[in-house]
Amino acid sequence: MADSRDATDEIARALADRRRALEAELGITGERLGDIRAARADTVADDEHDPEGPTLAAEWSRAEGQRADTLSELADLEAAEARLAAGTYGVCEGCGRSIPPARLAVRPAARRCVACAEGAGR
Ligand SMILES: [Zn+2]
Repeated sequence: MADSRDATDEIARALADRRRALEAELGITGERLGDIRAARADTVADDEHDPEGPTLAAEWSRAEGQRADTLSELADLEAAEARLAAGTYGVCEGCGRSIPPARLAVRPAARRCVACAEGAGR
């Protein structure tokens, strides 16, 4: 049976892993945004009709949306790391009850239990 120190280490590792994955994603999204920006600049320069315009605009807003999602999950992760340090990790921000470990296993940065998250619309 693992003591709570081990459990905390395990959570810290899960959070760090997730953070690395998100930072990698952020890099990929940032590159895509750069590519789209370059493609848009080329399109405007090369062709006044700008046939790619709407497609690139859609691509851009999708990439921006992904970036916003990633940034918001990174913020959640940082908050989770702060709660872990403060000893309040795994406590639902909505109702103050423990978030089930199964949920934390899937979403280590979860701020709320399923019921409260659904009530909050996410
Ligand atoms: Zn709750």
